[in-house]
Amino acid sequence: MTEETTFFTYDVFCEKLSSLCRRAGLKEQEDAAARKLYTVCTRLCECSRRFNLTAIHDPEEILRKHITDSLFFAAAIEKSGADSLIDIGSGAGFPSLPTAAVLPSVDVCALDSTAKKTVYMKETAIGAGISNFRSVAARAEEAGHTGAMREAFGAAGARAVANLRVLLELCTPFVRRGGVFVAMKGESAKEEAREAKSAAKLLGCELSSIAEYSVPDLSDKRFLLIYQKISPAKQLYPRNFSQITKKPL
Ligand code: SAM
Repeated sequence: MTEETTFFTYDVFCEKLSSLCRRAGLKEQEDAAARKLYTVCTRLCECSRRFNLTAIHDPEEILRKHITDSLFFAAAIEKSGADSLIDIGSGAGFPSLPTAAVLPSVDVCALDSTAKKTVYMKETAIGAGISNFRSVAARAEEAGHTGAMREAFGAAGARAVANLRVLLELCTPFVRRGGVFVAMKGESAKEEAREAKSAAKLLGCELSSIAEYSVPDLSDKRFLLIYQKISPAKQLYPRNFSQITKKPL
């Protein structure tokens, strides 16, 4: 069995991308953005197994899951008007790398605790010519207390990192007042949002909307939970990781 999978040709990719952008409510991507996204995908295909980056290796699945989700996320960031974004627990760069590719005016920071992943993201961004992107190796609960990062972003987002109560504490201290936090969730979204009501309040956030979408050929529903940052969080938050997970807000 070969370690690497070959991705679609650029022409086939562009056809598929147009249809995904329409679905996500994003404008047709110009050649420059499409080429950046193409490099993100081809590099993931080449490196995913080798570096154990994500469980998704198949080209169709990369498009259907990583890219579709990221385009819906990018559409929400575009709608919010944010000029900067931090993606917490970005892994191999989802949703941050595609978001930076399609929204070149947004400064994107991808934060992950695993240095191997932040190096991979940085090299991918350089290879793809995505200049509005940087990656940082750090734990969110520590970086959220640093002067350079606390309340420094117009938007924060996260996919597949933790339960919403934990995520709100990890992510919202990075967002400045008036900004948004976008949590990408599956079928459990509404239940998690109900359970996280008091966490959101304690952290100075309000759930402003829930956007539902679906991914081609998959029956499960996906949701973007969009929180507005109303007031600064107390300095106490985020607490250390064991407190956050043992006693979620
Ligand atoms: N968001 C990516 C995606 O959807 O493909 C990656 C999801 S992966 C399942 C979760 C990632 O979150 C891992 O790369 C892990 O290193 C990172 N992570 C988990 N807890 C973290 C924390 N407290 N601070 C920073 N990164 C964290």
